[in-house]
Amino acid sequence: MSSRSERACMLCGIIQPFKKFYSAGCPNCESLLHYQDNEDGQIQDCTSPSFEGTVALGADNKESWVARWLRIDSFAPGLYAVKVNGKLPPDIIRDLEEQNVIYRPRDGSAED
Ligand SMILES: [Zn+2]
Repeated sequence: MSSRSERACMLCGIIQPFKKFYSAGCPNCESLLHYQDNEDGQIQDCTSPSFEGTVALGADNKESWVARWLRIDSFAPGLYAVKVNGKLPPDIIRDLEEQNVIYRPRDGSAED
């Protein structure tokens, strides 16, 4: 289901081609993660080529249980991974915490 050029954002789970993260950034996390035009490996560090399961989030299912379950109900329409393998680097997690963003790993290790 996933082609190798596609990557999932580890923070929000959206799936986009590498090129799109580079050219347009993440529609949800750009203000936090700054993927656009980033040549310092940010896309490699904070997105993962390894993900499982996809959910298309659109205007019609924004309120759905799937969206709530994935905690993506406030996110931009798009294709999202149910599970993203990998974790954000510790320094990125620290930056997020300083901005009051709680990072929940999407690799299945997070507990509620
Ligand atoms: Zn994102």
